[in-house]
Amino acid sequence: MSSPKYLTGDKAAINEFIDKFDTFLFDCDGVLWSGDHVFDGVIDTIQMLHEKGKRTVFVTNNSTKSRQDYLKKLTALNIPATVEDVFGSAYSSAIYISRVLKQASQPKPKVFVIGEAGIETELASENVDFLGGTDPALRRDITPEDFKALADGTGLDPDVGLVLCGLDFHINYLKLSTAFAYLRTGATFMATNTDSTLPMNHSFFPGAGSVSSIPLANMVGGGKMPVACGKPSQAMMDAVEGKFQLDRARTCMVGDRLETDIKFGIDGRLGGTLAVLTGVMKKHDFEKEDAVTRPAFYVDKVSDLGVATD
Ligand code: PLP
Ligand code: CA
Repeated sequence: MSSPKYLTGDKAAINEFIDKFDTFLFDCDGVLWSGDHVFDGVIDTIQMLHEKGKRTVFVTNNSTKSRQDYLKKLTALNIPATVEDVFGSAYSSAIYISRVLKQASQPKPKVFVIGEAGIETELASENVDFLGGTDPALRRDITPEDFKALADGTGLDPDVGLVLCGLDFHINYLKLSTAFAYLRTGATFMATNTDSTLPMNHSFFPGAGSVSSIPLANMVGGGKMPVACGKPSQAMMDAVEGKFQLDRARTCMVGDRLETDIKFGIDGRLGGTLAVLTGVMKKHDFEKEDAVTRPAFYVDKVSDLGVATD
């Protein structure tokens, strides 16, 4: 594996880099912003790419928000985008369920959701029936009656054929027990994304994988992880390619996580991967000898691309 090329400050190399691609897939958190703070120069850089005729797509693993929610955030931060430019792991999962699994005649049509409203909105947009999710009836302690109803199946909806796990800020024993009961009785196991951590406020919190899919994977299949639809899953890449008619060789993935963003681009055989150092990834992560994933290029921050000329 060759060493990543450092582009910061090298105007000629940046121009050459930008010319290689028609489409840039941008990871969001850690690349464009941190929390509610847009990084300096990001807006100008996206505008510059548009002026050069490049397409920008915002590809996020955050399943708590729908595409519309993301557009609101992009707009509030003055980042030029339309809803068509947003692709999140909740939407990716909804597409996978409605277009791939339904066509494979998944016998039971309903989805039990562990997660937030973003997943529900996207499932509804693809006409997928669901239960669980933000239902307030599940935001309580488990009772002896629940244990009994989950054990004998009377507490289960017979039409549920799939469990979809994302980050759920109200995860509890009742939800995990209900999801496990569906999985025990043959439901398909899926995750929007399996991020172990959620970077926030310059620190880390439990991510989607850690609160739902990893505990469930330990219960059902000795740690066998579910089909996931967020980065680095190629289910997401295939869906992005289908929607945007990507020419993979002329597409570059820009991200701040090696094991999600950069792996996503490499596994997807994109023409390029660009790492930025404003998020989770540090230079030593890909420079160490035993690094299994390395970006093709890296910059200190996205706005370092902004020096490109016509
Ligand atoms: N999941 C959640 C719930 C998040 O809030 C975030 C970041 O805000 C992520 C995942 C990671 O998102 P991204 O892929 O944009 O870095
Ligand atoms: Ca990120």
